[in-house]
Amino acid sequence: MDLNVIKGLGTKRIELLKSKGIESVTDLALYFPRSYYDLSNNESFLEDGKFRLIKAKVVTCAKVARIRKDFGYCYFEAVDEIGNKFKPIFYNQPYIKNVFKVDETVYFFGKNSPTKHGYFIVSTYVKEQKIKEGTTLLPVYKTFKGIGQTSLKSFVDQALELVAVDSFLPQNIENKHLELSLQEAVKKVHDPKSKQELTIAKTRIDIEKILPYIKYNEDIKKQKTLENTRFYTNFDHILRLFCDFLPYTLTLEQTKVINQIMADMKNHKPINRLIQGDVGSGKTIVSLIVLAIAVSSGYSAMLVAPTEILAKQHYQEALKYFSNLGLNVSLLTGKTTLADRKEISNCLSSNKPILIVGTQTCLNDEFVSDNLAMLVIDEQHRFGVKQRAKLLNKSKNIDLIMLSATPIPRSMSLIYYGGLDLSVLSKPPFVKQIQTNIVKESKEDDMWQFIKTNIENNAKAYVVCSNIDENDDDSYIGLSAKEMYNKLSHIYGKENVQLAHGKLTAEQAEKVLDNFKNGSAKILVSTTVIEVGIDIKDANIMVIVSPEKFGLATLHQLRGRIGRAGQKSYCFCMARNLSENSFERIDFFKNHTDGFEIAEFDYTSRGAGNILGTNQHGKTDNIFEFISLSTFNKATSLYNQLKNLDIDFSNNKTYLALSEIAMN
Ligand code: ADP
Ligand code: MG
Repeated sequence: MDLNVIKGLGTKRIELLKSKGIESVTDLALYFPRSYYDLSNNESFLEDGKFRLIKAKVVTCAKVARIRKDFGYCYFEAVDEIGNKFKPIFYNQPYIKNVFKVDETVYFFGKNSPTKHGYFIVSTYVKEQKIKEGTTLLPVYKTFKGIGQTSLKSFVDQALELVAVDSFLPQNIENKHLELSLQEAVKKVHDPKSKQELTIAKTRIDIEKILPYIKYNEDIKKQKTLENTRFYTNFDHILRLFCDFLPYTLTLEQTKVINQIMADMKNHKPINRLIQGDVGSGKTIVSLIVLAIAVSSGYSAMLVAPTEILAKQHYQEALKYFSNLGLNVSLLTGKTTLADRKEISNCLSSNKPILIVGTQTCLNDEFVSDNLAMLVIDEQHRFGVKQRAKLLNKSKNIDLIMLSATPIPRSMSLIYYGGLDLSVLSKPPFVKQIQTNIVKESKEDDMWQFIKTNIENNAKAYVVCSNIDENDDDSYIGLSAKEMYNKLSHIYGKENVQLAHGKLTAEQAEKVLDNFKNGSAKILVSTTVIEVGIDIKDANIMVIVSPEKFGLATLHQLRGRIGRAGQKSYCFCMARNLSENSFERIDFFKNHTDGFEIAEFDYTSRGAGNILGTNQHGKTDNIFEFISLSTFNKATSLYNQLKNLDIDFSNNKTYLALSEIAMN
């Protein structure tokens, strides 16, 4: 159902929602709260710079002040429950003038103004009279510039009335085996009466999300019982030649994993293996070596990466070695010309041995062949559900190897990878020397100066921001990627600074990266587009702006981009106004380098039902990111009971929308 059926949504706001991935009424119904306010836990006004919830009575009418044509504010007086007077203030929301009446009781969420004594900058509010009897938890949504909390909630409520949130499970099964229908669960998550009710509803939704993964894992296990008639040869020969060309020696860990895969290749069972290794642990070369064995044995093979940039990087790496060995390799992405696509598919259909390196384009049906023997998927968790289904189809008779750098807790890995054999690259090729610092606002200038000295000595620096240009939070003014780009161009000179973000076309992005990798630019300002796999060896500085806006896993990935040649490197977390909770997380990150430990910490500190505002802002950074082991067990036993039921989730709108939320 199209978003224009929602009252209050005009073309402009529909465009905005669409740009945030909310494209239909179903998406809106599944736009879950980021966190919840615990109304029983309100505080009084204090000037300590921390976010808090205050229950207060409005004392005066609102005054409006207009500073410029496009900037003004509105404030009034209020008194909290212990009698402290303060002034709630709203920026650029003139309509607030008519919203509050004297003597009304309102819950305000926000924090005191850093510059104006006695003022409280309101992020969101809710009037007591609007809260349903008996409610103790109030949902809080991630808002967008131009759509505030109250409007968003009203859109979500309308959506819940308009669409049926259908489970892919038949209704009789839903009724018989589950406490709640999916529809009821979704409604409750938007409006929970208690923490307990919220937990039950979340569990129901999680089950809907993970059943397909369980099925996927079971299907993989079934595949493993089949015979495989591939006959690979040339193992030692290729390995030796490769090692001769390599500018470094393989680590013991890399050799161990290569041996595991070679043993798989000699055994006539289909391979379904996951290689898990932290960022920079050297997975690429491991996969290139086994792919070379496959191609030199007369088969075709594929290496698929989630982005164009990464595919190209792998292609160039592969080309170095494959051309030396006299093996064919081609690049296949969405940008490949029709003629080249034809040639590649001809190669496949005529059984000419070749390695195809590319993006998800490789998964298209035109690129199949009985001779296609091995498929390696890099950063496999980045692929969505539809692509996974394709993958499973494509890999029916193919040896499948997946690479993943995202360390996830063991319980989660059961969900995602339960059907796969596992290889772990636990030690990187060299010990990284990265020093992580939390930089206070007062020390920022020193940091920029330090970076200046460093880049004059040929170092390179990444500066990562959470937003491109919009700021829906007063405390982050000046910290978006565009603003940062302007500031740094000023400090370091325009020719030294590049800007990359997700709205660039592939060509633009490539140019920018190329100028950073090989050209004159020393500093790359970007959003998290650089998170995945980018390998630029002389980068040794990573500045993360407002690190509290990122999950720990993302921070870890970002830090993994530097020091890739073993040089001394620096990660700066530019943290203004950290809440206690965020500080604890960032401090943990500062003191730990092991991705698995970081993932465990993230999981336990957030997965444990962290109710009140964790200052997480990303689309996936809500309580639905984590699925507990007990929910997983519940879903598994349900799957076992339903074994013979052929659930088709791939056409279920709810499921696809849910999984987009999970995967993005
Ligand atoms: P990831 O596991 O994150 O995909 P890469 O495969 O991109 O890591 O490898 C990271 C970097 O380490 C690359 O620049 C690669 O050339 C280098 N590398 C890989 N193996 C070794 C090794 N045994 N010794 C030294 N450098 C290595
Ligand atoms: Mg990689």
